[in-house]
Amino acid sequence: MNERRIVLLAPLLAAVTPLRVPAQAGATSAPLTDIRYEVTFTRANAERRQVTSAMTFTVGGTDAVLLSLPKWTPGAYEISNFARDVSNFSAEQSGTSLVWDKIDGETWRIRPRGVGEVTVRFDYLADSLDNANTWARPDFLLFNGTNLFLYPEGRGFAFAASVTVNTEAAWKIATGMTSTGTRRYAASNYHDLVDMPFFVGQFDLDSAQISGTWVRFASYPAGSVTGGARVAVWEALKRVIPAEVKVFGEVPWTAYSILQIADQSYGGGSGLEHQNSHVDVLGPGMLGTPILPSLYAHEIFHAWNVKRLRPSDLWPYKYDQEQPTPLLWISEGITDYYADLAEVRGGIVDANGFYLMTSDKMSQVNALPPTALEDASLSTWIHPRDGTEYIYYPKGSLAGFLLDIMIRDGSDNHTSLDDVMRTLYNAAYKNGRGFTSDEWWSTVSKAANGKSFGDFFVRYVDGREPFPYDQVLPLAGLRLARDTARVPQLGSLQDSSGLHVSEVIPGSSAAAAGVQPGDQLLSVGGFNADDPNWTEKFRSRYARSPEGTDIPIVVRRNGAQQTLTARLRFVTRVEPRLIADARASAKARRIREGILRGTTQP
Ligand SMILES: [Zn+2]
Repeated sequence: MNERRIVLLAPLLAAVTPLRVPAQAGATSAPLTDIRYEVTFTRANAERRQVTSAMTFTVGGTDAVLLSLPKWTPGAYEISNFARDVSNFSAEQSGTSLVWDKIDGETWRIRPRGVGEVTVRFDYLADSLDNANTWARPDFLLFNGTNLFLYPEGRGFAFAASVTVNTEAAWKIATGMTSTGTRRYAASNYHDLVDMPFFVGQFDLDSAQISGTWVRFASYPAGSVTGGARVAVWEALKRVIPAEVKVFGEVPWTAYSILQIADQSYGGGSGLEHQNSHVDVLGPGMLGTPILPSLYAHEIFHAWNVKRLRPSDLWPYKYDQEQPTPLLWISEGITDYYADLAEVRGGIVDANGFYLMTSDKMSQVNALPPTALEDASLSTWIHPRDGTEYIYYPKGSLAGFLLDIMIRDGSDNHTSLDDVMRTLYNAAYKNGRGFTSDEWWSTVSKAANGKSFGDFFVRYVDGREPFPYDQVLPLAGLRLARDTARVPQLGSLQDSSGLHVSEVIPGSSAAAAGVQPGDQLLSVGGFNADDPNWTEKFRSRYARSPEGTDIPIVVRRNGAQQTLTARLRFVTRVEPRLIADARASAKARRIREGILRGTTQP
């Protein structure tokens, strides 16, 4: 106790004012060398739902070491404060405990006793089933490096590091990290280190060569994707990956890993992209649905678009703050456009399938308040609650579609949006930097043979005007039919997991029934809410029922199950339906075929 006070005295005197200065205000750690991480996950850890993370490094003296955990995982654009899941933090040198304290929520200050090797260690609570977090089961662990790997403050991220995983002898490991020995891995810098999540434990794992490189598919729990379902996964990957490689003209990874979890507690599905892997978390109802090839195509396209070709606002990643960019609609929405293109170009869907996916995106956007792409991009960090939180996906995808058509029209189908993506990839990523808004629009304009996109930007990207479908679609031999439909609507919105009510529209049928934000939806009108298609099934089941029909809604609130009763109400919707125009000009038909096939030809 006394010794601890004495050790603390010197720095207290030396740093009277800046003692509590936040790390981001410029605090710098003593330099560290020979940085090694060790992750321990055994059956005993699994029972506690904890993983142990250790970091060992060498210091040159007694200067304070400042170590931080990231506040977020790139790709998951929200502040998560991973440090809150840390417990039992300790630091030692030559078998002796070192004095430490915190200087902000996610930064620890350690006092070495002199030259030599220091080890810090902590437990991390592994109970968050989230692509960006860490999740343990009795035989399995998903972990993200942003959760477990501390970095020295103010020393940059260029340091090399190794990772050793201690686990049960019979358990497997899957990760995008380069293996350097038995359960040992290496990364040449911190950005790469935390961009390569791990599966540890019992899961199914196989691999295949696609586009000249190895692709691995790891799925948990073991047995969740077998037989025909597994064949279908590989069939989808063999179709979408080559179509995406063709856009950029190169495979950017040496091997690619798909890490997939299916669990009852999760509704819907989500993926999180990395440079040579992605993590999918799905409700079991998603397995075997057409949503999966689309999800794989989206996440894998990110290996180029956002992991490498990235807005300059996100280059380099900063782990201690939000990094908003008005260009996220390019990183996410245009990735979603290319997921659809990869499916049609790879032959997973036909032209009509592509038109249906596109029409569905138009419906999604039409149902939401008019929101500018740039505003939605910037706002994602605050999770807007008016339904527009993720509008930059479908709306950005549609913007990509319109730009593709206009570029092809302007260049007489000699160039396309593919050329824009490839040009920027080479100009920005290959030169070690991000791209700017000016660079994006000048590249688009150049590809379109000099056509100006200033008006398009002001009205449809920075502005909120409805997209000019009737002017642009005919340039590609397409047009919109508009179907009027009377559809049942309850008036509650779900969060991204699909299972929790995020909003209840005032005055709606759901509001009158007593549905509340935060309720977990179990079933609606007899359809289980973990079925990803329950809304469609609900609409078709009740489409012809009389107004006022009782609809049972089963929710879990504060741990207790309740059945609420809503009265069926209808809204009249105009549903857009994209169709090919049989009377299109020869040029428009060439553009249409070029988009569907991934070709440019005069
Ligand atoms: Zn994405």
